[in-house]
Amino acid sequence: MSTEEVRIRIAPGKLLVRHGSCPAGCSLVDRDVLMDGQPALTLLVRVQGRTGHIHLNPFYGVFDYECDVPLKPGDVVDVYCPHCGGSLSVVEQCGLCHVSMFAIQLPDGGEVRVCPKVGCHNHHLTIVDLDAQFSQLYDEERRPKM
Ligand SMILES: [Zn+2]
Ligand SMILES: [Zn+2]
Repeated sequence: MSTEEVRIRIAPGKLLVRHGSCPAGCSLVDRDVLMDGQPALTLLVRVQGRTGHIHLNPFYGVFDYECDVPLKPGDVVDVYCPHCGGSLSVVEQCGLCHVSMFAIQLPDGGEVRVCPKVGCHNHHLTIVDLDAQFSQLYDEERRPKM
């Protein structure tokens, strides 16, 4: 099956990632950590020999995170599934930083790909089954005003 790429612009904070998982299928959604009132996506992170957890804001395009290892701009993190330990990195490189990006799997074959360099906001969303993806992902309620 051939596919065509369509670019869609989505305002930050409008799309909620409710069902992110690792390639093996473990859920990365962490109901113990809320960010903007929604469960965060929690990943295992390794940077400069230290290992910890990073919690990502589940709203697409919002770059808030909490990490229990100190991160500074320019650090490149390695990310793994906190359940099975599998690497989330993919072959694709960030076009700006030339480091391998990492991916969070969405239902029905979609992916969010993110650059692992702290401070780089390069990321994109791949949607394979548009109807399925939007019925599951699109959040009708607006992100709560801070
Ligand atoms: Zn896993
Ligand atoms: Zn980058």
